[in-house]
Amino acid sequence: MTVVVVGGSLSGLFHAIVLKHLGHNVHVLEKSSQTLLESQAAGLNAGPDVQKLIDLYIKSETPYGMPGALVEIVDREGVVINSFPPNATTNLTTWRILYNILKSHLLGEATTLATYETEKLVGEVNYDGEMVSVSYTDIKTGVSDVRHADLVIAADGGHSSIREGVIPDSSPEYVGYVTWRGAVPEPLLCEASRSFLSNRVFMLRAEHGFILSYHVPSDNGSLKPGECQFIWAWYEKLDEHSDDFNENFTDISGKRHFTTVPRGKMQPKVWEKRQECGNSLNPPFAELLEKTSDPFVSAIRERQSPKSVFYDGKLLLVGDAFALFRPHLGSSTNQAAMQALGLAEVLEGRSDLVAWERKSVEYAMKTAALGNAYGEYCFTGKVPDSISAAIRPDESYT
Ligand SMILES: Cc1cc2nc3c(=O)[nH]c(=O)nc-3n(C[C@H](O)[C@H](O)[C@H](O)COP(=O)(O)OP(=O)(O)OC[C@H]3O[C@@H](n4cnc5c(N)ncnc54)[C@H](O)[C@@H]3O)c2cc1C
Repeated sequence: MTVVVVGGSLSGLFHAIVLKHLGHNVHVLEKSSQTLLESQAAGLNAGPDVQKLIDLYIKSETPYGMPGALVEIVDREGVVINSFPPNATTNLTTWRILYNILKSHLLGEATTLATYETEKLVGEVNYDGEMVSVSYTDIKTGVSDVRHADLVIAADGGHSSIREGVIPDSSPEYVGYVTWRGAVPEPLLCEASRSFLSNRVFMLRAEHGFILSYHVPSDNGSLKPGECQFIWAWYEKLDEHSDDFNENFTDISGKRHFTTVPRGKMQPKVWEKRQECGNSLNPPFAELLEKTSDPFVSAIRERQSPKSVFYDGKLLLVGDAFALFRPHLGSSTNQAAMQALGLAEVLEGRSDLVAWERKSVEYAMKTAALGNAYGEYCFTGKVPDSISAAIRPDESYT
């Protein structure tokens, strides 16, 4: 088969690798440049299906992440007031590490054809009853072209235009909070902060939300002590129609962003205000903010899709294009790997697309409900009934 994968982030790469291993010719079309892709990357959780896919297809034994520990809730004095185990096996890494492993594997073996092209913006995707045609424009030259495929994988993310084409009015909805994020290399922190934050996952309630910290390898994949980095993410409730929201999402050149103001584009006055808020945190968190050189901010949005299979099974929605979650379980990348592994079973004749779609929908519904429950607990300290077996309310909760 000839397969076109729209979107060259993690879902696109998982699917491209699986399809290539099954002997298909795979063409990945990605709209962003390599530089732009890297400007939004921070830490992420690679769940159990990511590990399974890497074991099965890449067979690399080199560790690429750090095992997720208990999430410990601390107060402003750094005293642990509660903790809960991760929802599933976790492996804390970065988008860039995973992206580099996957992309070099996809392009590294010359068994069948795989191409990966950046700065190719996909427009229309049409079906004539036999083949699917994918129209795209080369962003650098402005030249448009069409590729015909037996199968199209729509891995074009949470704001998927392909999903909008097959499920109209399905754009993601703002959930009422934003996340500020950054990374700090280990050597930049003082000894006290380093030893406090190392190999632990912390959460501290802060103004209008909470902040998380975790420890991951360096972006070139080093796990050596002293070469790793700390990631932080500060979730803050913010009215989408407020002046603050508008200011936060307007970048240094005056451009208003819908979802993310990328690294290097945040207005200095916006970041100074956030750093001032950081002074009220406990010292290690305050230092993380102080030492962050390239923060970025994203509006959290969510969206479920009732279907993942279209055009007689020749167009599949995967990853965030299929279901976009709040980030509290860190399951988005796992969802993508789970769908890619499931597609391999379909193509090998061990399952079918009806079962694949059902499993995708069930996973997404369950993950969204669970993630929302964890999110509620993180913001308030109150534990929703659905997760009361895993977590007890914070003592300070009244
Ligand atoms: C650059 C980048 C960095 C990220 N960093 C993090 C992180 O640090 N932590 C984290 O938890 N999550 C991160 N994510 C999100 C994470 O990758 C996803 O939540 C999850 O892995 C599922 O990935 P996805 O491939 O389905 O969606 P996405 O990762 O959103 O990828 C969608 C891809 O499709 C491309 N695309 C969209 N429309 C078109 C089009 N019309 N034509 C061609 N290409 C198109 C986008 O440029 C993007 O590369 C990042 C995503 C990106 C794109």
